[in-house]
This record gives sequence, C-alpha cells and structure tokens, in this order.
Amino acid sequence: MKLALLRRSCLLSLVATWGLLQVGCEKGSPSLPTENQAVADSRLPSNKLPSNGKELPPATPAVVAVEATESPIVSVSKPVLEQKALPPKKIRNVILIIGDGMGPQQLGMLFAYAHLAPGSVLPDRTSAIELLTQQGEVALVRTEPYGAVVVDSAASATQLATGEMAGSEMIGANYLGESVPTVLEVAKQMGKSTGLVSDTRITHATPAAFAAHQPHRSMENEIASDILENQVDVLLSGGLRNWVPQAVNDKESPAYLAVVHMTGGLFDPTSKRQDNRNLLVEARQNYQLVFDRTALAEVKEGPVLGLFADSGMLDAIDERNLQGDDNHTEPTLAEMTSKALELLSQNPEGFFLMVEGGQIDWCGHNNDAGCMLNELLRLDDAVRLVHQWAQGRDDTVVLVTADHETGSFGFSYSGGPLPEPGTLGGDVFQGAPYQPKFNFAMAEVLDHLHGQKYSFNHVFMEFDALDERERTADRLMQLVNEAVAPFSITLDDATEILTRMPNRQYVPGHAYLGTKTVPKMPDQASFYVYGENGRMNYLGHILGAQQNVVWGTGTHTNTPVPLITYGPPSATHRFSGFLHATDIGKGMIALIRGE
Ligand SMILES: [Zn+2]
Repeated sequence: MKLALLRRSCLLSLVATWGLLQVGCEKGSPSLPTENQAVADSRLPSNKLPSNGKELPPATPAVVAVEATESPIVSVSKPVLEQKALPPKKIRNVILIIGDGMGPQQLGMLFAYAHLAPGSVLPDRTSAIELLTQQGEVALVRTEPYGAVVVDSAASATQLATGEMAGSEMIGANYLGESVPTVLEVAKQMGKSTGLVSDTRITHATPAAFAAHQPHRSMENEIASDILENQVDVLLSGGLRNWVPQAVNDKESPAYLAVVHMTGGLFDPTSKRQDNRNLLVEARQNYQLVFDRTALAEVKEGPVLGLFADSGMLDAIDERNLQGDDNHTEPTLAEMTSKALELLSQNPEGFFLMVEGGQIDWCGHNNDAGCMLNELLRLDDAVRLVHQWAQGRDDTVVLVTADHETGSFGFSYSGGPLPEPGTLGGDVFQGAPYQPKFNFAMAEVLDHLHGQKYSFNHVFMEFDALDERERTADRLMQLVNEAVAPFSITLDDATEILTRMPNRQYVPGHAYLGTKTVPKMPDQASFYVYGENGRMNYLGHILGAQQNVVWGTGTHTNTPVPLITYGPPSATHRFSGFLHATDIGKGMIALIRGE
C-alpha cells in the first residue's frame, strides 16, 4: 500500500491524528476518534468539580438516582481484602499492566492463538499472560463505575488508581467529584519512583487517571499539566500535541520551528492546546526529553519524558510492518517497559509502574479482529519482559488486568462452510463416518487473523485520503482485500459499507453524535456511536462470517475482567476471588504503604 511508503511524519499523522490530516499528507477525512481516542474538543464546562463539597457532580439521571454513599456492591467484596491469613511480605515494587479492552473473550483469543494456530509465534505455544496465570493468583473483577452499569476507560482507570468509586469519564476524582490520591501519588509520598508507559497518548484516559485530577477525560491539555506537576519519573508514550504551544499550528511561526528543532525534526508537530504554553520547555528543567527509540535507549537515569508520536503511537500491525525500517523511530511497548524497569529500579525504595496496552480497545471499538490479536500479542511481549524481570524476586507484585471488555467479541460456530466428512476408529466409532454438523472454526483462522497486513483504521485512513472521485466501492474493496487476505469482501459488500443512513441518535453539537447521517449498520445501530468508524464495524461484521467472529457492540460491555497477580503469595492472596476494580486500587495502595 502506498501509505506505508509515505514519509514518517505523514504516516504518523495519518495513523496517529484523529482530528485532522496534516500538511504534507494527501487530503481526506479520517475516521472520528472512538471513545478511547477521544480528542480534546468535547469539553465539559471548564469549572472543575467541587473539591470538598458533598454535592454530586452534574450527572446523568442514573447517577442522581443513587444515594451518595459507597456502593453497596463494593462492600460485598471487602471481606476478601481483609483476609490476611499470611503475614504480609514487604513489597518494594508494584507493576500494574492494563490491557485496555482486554476482557476474558480477548484473552480467549490470545490463548487460542497461542495453543491452536498452526503458525503460533509464541514460545512453547504459551502466552506470557498464561504463564502468569499458572504461577500467580487469578481473580474476576467487576468494573462498573458509580451510578452506571458499563464503564469507560477514565472511570475504570480512576477506580484502579484510587480504590474509590468514580463517575463516568472522570479522571482521578471520586464520584463526589473530589480529588483522591492515586497509587502513583502514594508511591511518590513513600519515596518510591513512579512511571507511566502507554502505547496511546500519555494524556489518554488510562495513564491520565494515575497522575491527574480533572472533571473529564477530554481535558488532555490540563491533564498534561497535572502529569508534569506530579513529577512522574518515567513518562513514555505518544501525545506530543498536548505539550506544545497552539502557535505551532502556523507552520511559518517561530514556535513551529522551535518544536521541530527540539524534537530533532522527527515530527510535523501540531497542537491541541488553547494557549501558548510550551510544556516541553517547562519539562526540560527537570526531565531528559526523548523523541525516538535511539535516544530512549541511551537514557541511563530518570526522570525522562519520552513522547514518540503526535497523537497515538503506531498500531501493532504498522509497527510490525516497519520493523527494520529506518522510519521505525518509535520504541515498542516492550522497549518502553524495559527502559522504565531499568530506570525505576535504581531507587532503593522501589517503584510503582503502570504499563498500558491501550490499542486492544481501539481495535475492539472498530470490530477489527486481526488488529486486536496483534495488539494482544504486543501487550503479551511486554508482560513477558516484566515476568522475566520479576522472576525470583520476593519484593515485587505484578498485576495484569483490564479496565473493561470492548466489542462484545467472540469466536462462534456457524452454519458453514461445513467440515469435510471423515471416518474415525476407536471403540465408539469403529470406522463410522464422522462429520460435525456445524463450522466450529478451523485453527487456520487464527493464523490468518495474525497475518492481517493492515488494521481497518489504516485502510480507511488511506481510503479517506484519496481524492473524492477515487473513493469508490471498487477501490475500497481492493484496499480491504489487500489488507485482510485470505479473507475478502465483494463489491456488493463494499457498496453496503459505504451506504449511509439517517443518524437516529443525532445530537446537534455533540462531539460524536453531531452528524445527521452515519454509515449504515444493519442492526444494533445504537451501539455504533463513533460516526464514520461505523464503516469499520460493518466491515468487521461482514468479515466475521469468514473468521468465525462475532461482535456485539462498537463500545464496551460490563463483562467481568480477569486479574492475574504474580508475586509473593503473602502479598498476592488479597487479590483473589471476585473483586471490584476499586479493590485492586485499595490493595495496591496498601502494598505500597507496607500494610
Ligand atoms: Zn474503549
């Protein structure tokens, strides 16, 4: 595909910028951001929520309807935390790994690939996450926020970070709107080093919730300031656009040239800021700044701020496609994690580190199974590295969990193509014919998903960058079929994908629901809320028939998520059973405090 050949800054812009295509790239209208790719345009009123009052925040009727007391459901799981049969082992280091959108179904996909795919790339056909399940505690975790059933990444990460119930889309605040200390902040108070690593943006909901306190996840400029003030020792991710002055959007301006110079010419920078603060200049007083993997590799001690993309980092498939290429300047999630461990472990008091595989969720929102598998493998690489680092230590607890499930994904059996008939021996069959009546999915499907050449997002970015007269069903079919072979769509499929329908959920001025027409979805249209991304969802549903894959939504589900905890049993036992996300936060804070 041509896109792979574009110069890096353009490629980055295409892949990483969800709001605008950059100068130097072909024009087009890229997809809307999904919930987890949210841009800073949709703000709540600028007032922060009350920091000391007991009033509920302005909220949905569901929030108002619930009394402002601690969730009764949370107290149900409290006894689990109080079971301290063994004397606690002093824990120096806590490492939390979050697969965003990695529900049990997604883990099922990873485990199926590991064990069943004929070409499985995993050593001993075992994922690192499965290794941890064999050696640590496994629990199930409810994720709901205060006053609702389904959680978004901001509220969920806030609950993981603080141990307190949060309202939807809040960052670092409890359901009353009060700022609450996060596990990262408690670690800092205890003299430990702290780190945040994500393959999205450092100001994105999940990392933000550990080091910022803001009323809404979309306030990424304010979140950047909070993170900086929190003096987190290691910050590695994307999201340069929230750190540089608004003036860089004028490419003739001294500010633009200054940022190009500061970042070593690696970026065609843009800004999402509403002011001319240059947080890079402010950060430089305390931090080493790095913008590519070579510079990161040379860092020998913290604090370090590494921003490797204008917005989100490369997706796992694009990253794989760029391996060995001079244009591959972004570090991998595993490389960032490795450097974080190297730097943070220099503190004799220990550290807290959060690592996020954030794009599992993005692929889930797009109903892109091949993309999701590759993201799961990318996270698994980071987990393997952490596992190897923590092996044999008695002072470290590693937790692997998810904030929620995304997509209501599953492998499922179907009416065809049916398996070929055969004959079986054995005392039961004795040479009788054997032919199951349904298609229970062939293992080769897993290799085909792993081998997907481009994510749906990449395909539609390229499609939208075409001249309008070239954006035809035929061209879309070609691009899709090149990306997903041996799966394929027909010209009729491509025509359907490009068909539009009235937006029955139209809300004037809404960041996501504000267009009067949307791509056609054959059913469940209420759950496809990200505008043009609906084309990817329809594509995912069409291909699903060949992949034995089903999707139930373009958003999140409330499926309980797994928690796997690895470390000394005296410290990990508190993370067993059936928990709520807040129990993880409380448990981590207790470990950090030496309780
Ligand atoms: Zn999401």
